[in-house]
Amino acid sequence: MTAPGKAGTFPRPHEGKLEQKGSMKIRFRLPLKLRLFLPLTLIIVTVITLVTLWFVRSSISTFNQQLETTLQLEVKTISKMFERERVLKLENVESNLRVANNQFYDSPLQILEESVTAEVENQDTGEKHMATLNQWVHDGHLLHESHAFVDGLADLIGGTVTIFQQVDSGFVRISTNVRLTDGKRATNTYIPNDSPVGESIIKGETYFGRAVVVDEWYMTAYDPIIMDEEVIGMLYVGDREKDMEELNRILQELRIGESGYPFVVDKTGQILIHPSMEGEDWSDTDPFDQMLNQTEGTFHYQKNGQQRTLAFSYFEPFELYIAASIIKDAENRDIVRGAIRGASVVALLAIIFLLAFIYRFTTDRIYSYFTALKESEEKLASAQSALKQSQKLASMGQIAAGIAHELNNPLGVITMYSNIVLDELEKDDPKREDMQLIVQQVDRCKNIVGGLLNFARKNKVKADEVDIIDFLEKSLKSVVVPEKVATNIEEDLADRRVMVDTEQMVQVFTNLAKNAVDAMPDGGTLTISVKGDEENVYIEFSDEGTGIPEEHMEKLFTPFFTTKKAGKGTGLGLSLVYGIVKMHQGKIQAASNTDPEKGPTGTTFKIKLPREPK
Ligand code: ADP
Ligand code: MG
Repeated sequence: MTAPGKAGTFPRPHEGKLEQKGSMKIRFRLPLKLRLFLPLTLIIVTVITLVTLWFVRSSISTFNQQLETTLQLEVKTISKMFERERVLKLENVESNLRVANNQFYDSPLQILEESVTAEVENQDTGEKHMATLNQWVHDGHLLHESHAFVDGLADLIGGTVTIFQQVDSGFVRISTNVRLTDGKRATNTYIPNDSPVGESIIKGETYFGRAVVVDEWYMTAYDPIIMDEEVIGMLYVGDREKDMEELNRILQELRIGESGYPFVVDKTGQILIHPSMEGEDWSDTDPFDQMLNQTEGTFHYQKNGQQRTLAFSYFEPFELYIAASIIKDAENRDIVRGAIRGASVVALLAIIFLLAFIYRFTTDRIYSYFTALKESEEKLASAQSALKQSQKLASMGQIAAGIAHELNNPLGVITMYSNIVLDELEKDDPKREDMQLIVQQVDRCKNIVGGLLNFARKNKVKADEVDIIDFLEKSLKSVVVPEKVATNIEEDLADRRVMVDTEQMVQVFTNLAKNAVDAMPDGGTLTISVKGDEENVYIEFSDEGTGIPEEHMEKLFTPFFTTKKAGKGTGLGLSLVYGIVKMHQGKIQAASNTDPEKGPTGTTFKIKLPREPK
């Protein structure tokens, strides 16, 4: 079938215009989905990113907090270690004192009548004065001259042992294994009465404490030597308080995380234990300033451009600071990376999941809602325009019917009388030709009036059953078809029977055929295709003519619309066609193409006719 125009994509009248109108209200373009989706995407991405950043930040700060706690714990552990060491030493010195007492009182102490005068030295102030010392004999030895007891005892218990004799100013070492820096025994030095040791002993109490003996700290124990209920001297044992080398070894092995280590500074700022700075003076550094006079704390400071965190605790019994420091960045590098990596993955997954979810359940729905809205608007618009068109045609039909009705009677009278006059005229009467012309033209007028009445549906349908193909072929016979134009009927029908008013329907087919012929002055093919189902038959008249311009489409079916020369066209053809089809409860539509660039030009009229009009 040669179907010019766009059969199948039958444009509705006004279509272009209406779409424009629709697109002004709501823009239904392709990016609609995107426009719905983008703001949601933006919100989700922003929210998740913020949550992720917050999460990363808080995990880092939690980690740093933990780092500080770890440092503080480390310092506490070391303090405990020191404390345990101290307690051990104390216990040690206590038991040593017991041993010393046992040994000392095992042998009798004799105080001779003779005395010696010696120069004694205050161990704290270095003041010297002369003092009278009694001669003490112990285990047969003159204590002042013999060190057998103290040396023997020291061999047994270790540490230092001294026997003191009380003089007016204090307690003088008369027998000792404590040696001065020059290697000599520290005899004749004395602890003054107003020292803590002196005060306790005078009261008859045992004294435990720590003391610098020569230049080392010792855990010390002093026990009064009492004779006849009177303090006459004291017995001393001492143990080196802290074994620095031992502690040093333990602390050096301690590592905290990747970059942390413990260290020990005494209260003057001397570094006692440190993996690399042992023995250095730390007294005028920033961190030491912060530690000074504090019992414990945690703070941050810069060293070699690195942020360090330091926790410390002052260990009172040994008068030193135990500290531990760490490079923050070195420690949290891994956790920061891990947190960022983990959080990013989770965030990305969350974003993808949420977007997919939203896309699936929200955007898609909104989109289909809008699409449906658009479709129904379009439908409404086309229905409205169809209604307008048919209302227009209907009101025109009423006017036309009125005029036709009024003209019908006078035309009948003119026909009758002109025929009478014609009959009465002689055969050779010169007026006869004029009269014949009047009769012809009146006939024509009657036809026009009849057409108008048809258009206005004023006529009734007198339906008879026909074979539609036969009927079409017969109808075409009354159309003058030039040689250049071919006609072709294509049939696809199971049942050819249709009920039509034959007198009227013949006018529909002849008019459509005439118009098609008129539209193909250079020749072409008029194809008439007939299809059908149980209810209807569908007849299409397709020509290969010049086509109908868009702007004429609207006026096509209105009475008196013509583009043909006066005398050639009346403009009533299609209005008649329209009226008759309507009377048969059928439908007619036209589609056309005038633009050779868009495809072959031509026009198609589609008619739908019910097999049996009611
Ligand atoms: P008329 O044929 O007397 O002009 P019609 O109502 O039959 O009146 O047709 C109206 C107008 O419609 C025609 O003048 C013509 O411009 C256009 N027309 C109708 N049919 C066709 C067609 N097949 N091809 C091109 N134009 C057509
Ligand atoms: Mg015509």
